[in-house]
Order: sequence, then C-alpha cells, then structure tokens
Amino acid sequence: MIIRENIPISEITTMRLGGPAEFVIDIESIDDARDAFGFVKEKGLPFYYLGLGANSLGKDNGFNGAIIRNHIKGIEVLEESKNELLVKAYGGEVWDDFVEFVTNKGFSGIEAMSKIPGTVSAAPVQNIGAYGQEAKDTLVSVEVYDSLIDEYKEIDAKDCDFSYRHSIFNSGKDRGRYFILSATFRFAERELKQPFYNSLQSYLDAHNIKDYSPMSIRKAVSAIRADKLPDPETTASAGSFFKNILLDEPEAKKAEKKGVPMRKTPDGKYKVNTGWLLEDAGLKGKNFHGFTVSDKAALILINDSAKSYADLEKAVAEIKKAVKDKFDLDIEPEPVKIEAD
Ligand SMILES: Cc1cc2nc3c(=O)[nH]c(=O)nc-3n(C[C@H](O)[C@H](O)[C@H](O)COP(=O)(O)OP(=O)(O)OC[C@H]3O[C@@H](n4cnc5c(N)ncnc54)[C@H](O)[C@@H]3O)c2cc1C
Repeated sequence: MIIRENIPISEITTMRLGGPAEFVIDIESIDDARDAFGFVKEKGLPFYYLGLGANSLGKDNGFNGAIIRNHIKGIEVLEESKNELLVKAYGGEVWDDFVEFVTNKGFSGIEAMSKIPGTVSAAPVQNIGAYGQEAKDTLVSVEVYDSLIDEYKEIDAKDCDFSYRHSIFNSGKDRGRYFILSATFRFAERELKQPFYNSLQSYLDAHNIKDYSPMSIRKAVSAIRADKLPDPETTASAGSFFKNILLDEPEAKKAEKKGVPMRKTPDGKYKVNTGWLLEDAGLKGKNFHGFTVSDKAALILINDSAKSYADLEKAVAEIKKAVKDKFDLDIEPEPVKIEAD
C-alpha cells in the first residue's frame, strides 16, 4: 500500500481539473484493502474510489479526504474449454488490456468495448458499454471490500442491479460502500451477434470486412474510436459528458412532436441519443468557458484551456439550457464529482 499526501486531482483524472486530494492511497494487494480502510477510518476521513479518472471530476477545492485506488494487477483464467472461458481480472488492470487478453483467446463479449479508457474496477460501476455490448452481459461476480462492515465479499452480477450506466455501486443506498477488488467474467460466444450498431456496420461495409471474429471487431472498433474520440493521453476530456436519455411513453410523445428521434428499448422505454440533441441544437464545435463540444462526437466535452471546475459548471449550465430551450428535455452529466457523499 502506498500513501501519498496533497496530490492534485487534475493530475490523476482525464478532464485534468481539480485541487489537491489530502491523501491518495494505492492498494497493491487484496490484504491492503483492510489496512487502507483501517487508515481512513482511524483518521475519520471521507473517501472516494478512483481508477484512471476517466469518468471522475475534481473540484476546485480538491478533496479533504482519501482517494483510494485499486492498483492490483493480474488476469487469472479459472476455466477454459473450447466453448467457454471463465476469467478473473484484478481491478487495477487497464480495461483495454483485459479486452485484448480475452479477444486474443478468440472469445466474444467485450471486443466492442475496446479502447474504453479506464480500469477493470470501474467497468461494473457504471456498467460500461459500447457498440451494443455492456459489462453486465458477461460479468459473473465482483469481489469487493465492504467498507460498511469491514469484510471481503463476492457479489453476484444478478445482485448488482445493472442497467444503462447504472449499478448498486453508483446508485442507491449502497453507493460508495463496496471497493471493487476484482471482477470475474464468463465468455461463451465466438462472434458478436448481428445486427451490429449502425456506425460499426457502416465501417465494416466501407472496408469490405466480412470477418466478424472478436479480433476483427476489436480492430474495427479501435479504428472508429481513434478517428472520433479524443485520446486521454493528449486531449483532456471525460469521454461522453452527457448520458443518453430514457423517456417513458408520455414524455416520448412530447419529444417526438419536437422532431426528436428515438429508439424503443426492450423494457418499453424510449432512448434518445443526447449527441443528436447537442448537434441539432447547433452546439457541435462550440466553445463554452474553455470547453469545446467535440465536432466529431457531440457528446464529448473537451477541456481545451479551462483550469477550473467553476468554468465547467458554467459551460454545463449553458449547454443544458440550450437543449432545454430547444427540446424541453433535461440532460444530465455522466462523470462523477469527487466529493464526500
Ligand atoms: C475518451 C473517452 C471515451 C470513453 N468512452 C466510453 C465508452 O465508450 N463507454 C463507456 O461506458 N464509458 C466511456 N468512457 C468513460 C470511462 O472510460 C469509463 O467510465 C471507465 O469505466 C472509467 O474507468 P476509470 O478507471 O477511469 O474510472 P474512474 O473515473 O476512476 O471511476 C469511475 C467510477 O468508478 C468508481 N470506482 C473506481 N474504482 C473503483 C473501485 N475499485 N471500487 C468501486 N468503485 C470504483 C469511481 O468512484 C467512479 O464512480 C470514456 C471516457 C473517455 C475519457
């Protein structure tokens, strides 16, 4: 376990904002978790869990508490046969390295989530997803440290209440309770199921690709993303800044009258692509207080020159107002603020 003091949050999050965190604790083994929580509890510190900070935002006054990060590495194959792969990945692994590992073994299930920045730990938290795949589809269980009762536990995927960008880890009464140590996934397919997402299908058609093996899809998705999405190494952003919207039927009828396209989901809701709303409201490419709505993917807010969270708040308020004025719809940010609950 490594404990450091007074670390600028701007240096450990991809949006590159935020003042100092009082403590940053890096956990390097399963046993470290108990010691880390012993430390924060003894000092009475609030805590926040962080991976690579690709979906977390630092505030200007920093964080008077402890940021706890999972730095445990390792990928263990638990069972492998021609038809099935059961694999446990420790939370400090880079998500894309895990995708590469599984894809290399020829199994399908996460290849369309190639190049999503971040750690394995964070993948179940917001149930990451891309091009029709979601973490919940192959996740079996999550190993955690339960900070409420100071015990190690295994939580079954079916008890995680997964839905779009939602789980028990980021919502409800148990939000922030469980520190994720590792995640176990089961893969039983060899090819991504058709129909593919439009943008993926268009890319495959345009490049005359008929090979739908996991590695081929991984390459296609990686190419699409490299063209469209900012690289966190060189460009500050938190990825998609706003969530897509789920409407019930009466709300959907109202939105339809304003020309908003939507797609019915299996659970009877209507999904609105917030990127479309931003684009149609003429926000693509526009700069707000040092943040630009990406001209390649409108959901992405790029930090061009801003240094303060206060500027982000101003930018977000103006963008939300433009969408509200045009479509009478409320859009909500996806990234999480680093603060005590
Ligand atoms: C350019 C770009 C593109 C992106 N594209 C996508 C995309 O296609 N699909 C998608 O779903 N997301 C996308 N994202 C968002 C981001 O990559 C994911 O949310 C990813 O899971 C974040 O991982 P992280 O380790 O950086 O998480 P962090 O930002 O560090 O943490 C995210 C959340 O997980 C919690 N957390 C972190 N570690 C733990 C732990 N050990 N135990 C419990 N909770 C923990 C945090 O408290 C926080 O709530 C994108 C982001 C960027 C910058």
